[in-house]
Amino acid sequence: MDELRFACQPGCTRCCNQQGFVYLTEEDLRRAAWFLGLTPQQFERQFVYRTRHLLRLRKPRGRQCHFLLEDGCAIHPAKPTQCRLFPFWPELVESRRAWQQTARLCPGIGQGPLIQIGTALETASEMKQAYPGLYGRGAGARRRR
Ligand code: SF4
Ligand code: SF4
Repeated sequence: MDELRFACQPGCTRCCNQQGFVYLTEEDLRRAAWFLGLTPQQFERQFVYRTRHLLRLRKPRGRQCHFLLEDGCAIHPAKPTQCRLFPFWPELVESRRAWQQTARLCPGIGQGPLIQIGTALETASEMKQAYPGLYGRGAGARRRR
């Protein structure tokens, strides 16, 4: 895989509707709280599940995400890192097969300008830095959304 194409499609919310979890960094939590006019503590109490190594958004009953509206993300300018970087996740850009499989759910894959693989891998490395609890040693079994 030398180069990719991607352009997020207006009005699409398919990735947000996939089964899985949305993980946050501490900075993601503070930014989303500020965006909603809440303190980080209030935001965490209401929306976040914290384990020893990870923070993730709580899921409302029968839906994938509290912030998913019909026409998009209610916290779009402050959305979590994994949402902002999708589909440039390490497990997707490092595997042609995984990228092609993801193209079945994401209509933005294959659209837009050419992106060199080096640029895509650089973006993916931001994921690894942001979520050491997911990409660090021994973290392979944890699932992202
Ligand atoms: S599925 Fe793809 S095109 Fe649709 S919102 Fe997600 S990233 Fe954008
Ligand atoms: S936080 Fe926003 S972008 Fe992320 S899954 Fe929820 S609705 Fe989608």
